[in-house]
Amino acid sequence: MKDCIFCKIICGEVPSMKVYEDEHTLVFMDIAGDVDGHMLAVPKKHIRSIFDCDAETLHHLMDAVKRVSDHCTEKGGCDGVNLLNASGESAGQSVPHFHIHIIPRKKGDGIDAWPHFAGAAHDIAETYEQIRVK
Ligand code: AMP
Ligand code: ZN
Repeated sequence: MKDCIFCKIICGEVPSMKVYEDEHTLVFMDIAGDVDGHMLAVPKKHIRSIFDCDAETLHHLMDAVKRVSDHCTEKGGCDGVNLLNASGESAGQSVPHFHIHIIPRKKGDGIDAWPHFAGAAHDIAETYEQIRVK
């Protein structure tokens, strides 16, 4: 898509540090500079979020995420990874091209990658009735 920063990265119009690439997926360094090794995995076709993603594209994307995660632990000196995604503005998505954040982790690195929640506002049984797939 013309005005999409990740589409521009995919087509080479905007430079990026490519970590992994195949026919369907690109993984590149996130420029946030917030944590060592922060990467983004994106489908090469413009898809806004998980809600618009077809099963085949999702499959390819997650294959690439696994490949890079395996590489981090096998060759990159890491013990784990955090995989993060924001789909939709309400979830904090700032770039409207579907992406999975990959954060490599090392034992004792002190990184707090888990969101800090304020505490549930509703009774769990009430929420369960609303969100369970019937
Ligand atoms: P989100 O807030 O989940 O949509 O994440 C968007 C991410 O894209 C942020 O972590 C940004 O640092 C990252 N980002 C934005 N522009 C670029 C860019 N040109 N190259 C690499 N990462 C980028
Ligand atoms: Zn795009």
